[in-house]
Amino acid sequence: MNVLVTGGSGLVGKSLQKIQPKWFYLSSKDCNLKDLNLVLGVFTYYKPDVVIHLAADVGGLFKNLNNNFEMYMNNISINNNVVEACKKLKVKKFIPILSTCIYPDKIEYPITEDKLHDGAPHPSNIGYSYAKRMLDVASTLLEKTTNTKVIKLIPTNLYGPNDNFNLDKGHVLPSLIHACYLSRKYDETFRVLGTGKPLRQFLYVDDLSKIIEYFVFNDVEKNSFIIAPDEEYSIKNLAIEISNNFENKNKIVFDISFSDGQLKKTVSNARLKEIYNFKFTTLKEGIKKTVEWFKNNQDTFRH
Ligand code: NAP
Ligand code: GDP
Repeated sequence: MNVLVTGGSGLVGKSLQKIQPKWFYLSSKDCNLKDLNLVLGVFTYYKPDVVIHLAADVGGLFKNLNNNFEMYMNNISINNNVVEACKKLKVKKFIPILSTCIYPDKIEYPITEDKLHDGAPHPSNIGYSYAKRMLDVASTLLEKTTNTKVIKLIPTNLYGPNDNFNLDKGHVLPSLIHACYLSRKYDETFRVLGTGKPLRQFLYVDDLSKIIEYFVFNDVEKNSFIIAPDEEYSIKNLAIEISNNFENKNKIVFDISFSDGQLKKTVSNARLKEIYNFKFTTLKEGIKKTVEWFKNNQDTFRH
């Protein structure tokens, strides 16, 4: 069985590669997915039975806020080309990755799989959200009009080794690991953006990889699954946990001139649990492993 993974050089791709080294992994250097001819060429070459579509233009709240147009255009283009290539090459199973951050801003909690199109997304990431929502639509239509089985996986905030630790464009957890490291190194306050009050469910990347692997090898009836641990943490508690890992005694300060984004995005993992009672890595364990990786990869970490 040929399994082709787009976005193979990213956070999720590198994690997946550890457990399935024989699958084919693409980076943007192998193929710019914004170019349909290149995408068709690469799919024709690999003849995939299964496509795991990870590639995306990704970033944290502040990258999204400042680049909504680009996030929309890049992701629409990448996603349309990949779905079109799946149709042309008659791929048997397609596993696209959506995100819980593309759900409506105003929504009844907990968020469940079926509520994706029930209202506008938070304005901060409107470009990324609508592009991903169109990937949802395109994947559903692919399944309806071909023999391709589609399983849409919808993870919450991911983190782990090989994340993007950029201070301005990264997601909160890797950005705060980097900021906390600098705070400790230069003996300065540890600055956290926003009020610290928003809540998030953080998913360790190796957990998602194991769950992707499960869906590659198992046939399931439903076609979308939210992937999330139960626990929700405030950004403040996240910062405290990161600080403890660095044994950083410097004061944590909240810079309220920055946006909080969506205050919470509480999701239900009930549908996943019905078929796979996965034991998620705790945030404590996951942060410990990620900080250790960050410390051991000082010359090469992405930022
Ligand atoms: P990431 O670390 O930023 O990696 C992105 C991947 O996409 C890289 O391999 C990158 O290739 C590739 N890519 C970007 N533009 C491309 C292009 N034009 N052509 C070909 N490849 C391109 O992202 P990630 O965190 O692993 O995210 C994986 C998936 O999970 C994405 O679909 C994302 O939307 C979704 N997701 C992420 C999070 C999160 O918190 N990170 C949460 C929910 C869902 P290069 O390395 O060559 O640039
Ligand atoms: P989101 O979960 O999709 O909103 O994206 P993020 O992973 O970027 O998390 C954003 C939340 O973390 C917001 O409440 C921000 O105010 C807060 N936050 C605190 N410090 C930082 C930081 O250094 N970077 C980012 N991206 N967010 C931060």
